[in-house]
Amino acid sequence: MSHKLLDGKRIAAPIKEDVQARVVAAKSKGWVPCLASIEIGENPAASLYIRNQKRACEGVGILFENRRFPATITQREMQAAIQSINVDPRVTGVILQRPVPSHLNLRLLQSAIHPSKDVEGMNPANIGKVVYGDFTLGPCTSLASMEILRSTGLDLRGLNVVIVGHSVIVGKPIALHLLEELATVTICHHGTRNLAYHTRQAEVVFVAVGKPKLITGSMIKPGAVVIDIGINRVDVEDEEGTVRQKTVGDVDFESVHEIADWITPVPGGVGPVTLSILMRNTVTALEEQMDRYEREMRMPR
Ligand code: NAP
Repeated sequence: MSHKLLDGKRIAAPIKEDVQARVVAAKSKGWVPCLASIEIGENPAASLYIRNQKRACEGVGILFENRRFPATITQREMQAAIQSINVDPRVTGVILQRPVPSHLNLRLLQSAIHPSKDVEGMNPANIGKVVYGDFTLGPCTSLASMEILRSTGLDLRGLNVVIVGHSVIVGKPIALHLLEELATVTICHHGTRNLAYHTRQAEVVFVAVGKPKLITGSMIKPGAVVIDIGINRVDVEDEEGTVRQKTVGDVDFESVHEIADWITPVPGGVGPVTLSILMRNTVTALEEQMDRYEREMRMPR
């Protein structure tokens, strides 16, 4: 029987409180955080994220502006539009909604966002800092996953951790973060020969793949921590035979929660914490802009 559910809303609450206080402090100095969202074309998943981000911003006092662009926009036009947002002094943070239309190069668009306003931590400059152990504007989901692990109170030093999934924005930055904490890290991916062999030995398992039920109870060591980052929409049939869509993670919650000591639910686990980290990155970016402005004002001319 699972002992502890890692409730994302509970973990996010103090992070949001801290952001709120920092926003008040910045505003008292005449600085207003403003998060510009870039939406290219229309996508129901992105629309839902945008609504949630807007609500989260309003909750902590951050201005939120959604800027919409047609699905037919060219790469060059979109990069030029990002440049104009970069130099807009009112905008202190930028988020690029995904997915983007398939003719656009996502990586180039993320690289076009100025690193000082890149609150998602996706610009190569910010990803690069992560390698050096600087997580100031790290990728939100990886930072959120680390907050969740820390909330268990476990000593991270020497902990045996397995990460399933090695994407640039989730798996790899989590691994680098854990290395900074002196955990022992194994990263599994498509090329891993026997996934269960690795997960069964881990005290902590992070899963970020995008495959429902990839991890089942028989793959988990009793007493482990399981942090499920995956988000999948699956069809489920109710008692009347009606098929509905449901959001699930990559972990088979039913079998794993019997074995693990700590587990995140999906939804309600990593998602709310990621949103609170987006708010935190937005206020951090603003504070860095304030510091830079003050330093430059003090420089002799
Ligand atoms: P991604 O870029 O598609 O990466 C998926 C990773 O899983 C890749 O490293 C892939 O390895 C690996 N993989 C695929 N099949 C595997 C298998 N059978 N066994 C082990 N590893 C396997 O996805 P992502 O952006 O990291 O996102 C992963 C999941 O997290 C998605 O469901 C996404 O929706 C979710 N997500 C959630 C949040 C949140 O806030 N909760 C935020 C971001 C993402 P190869 O490259 O070798 O195939």
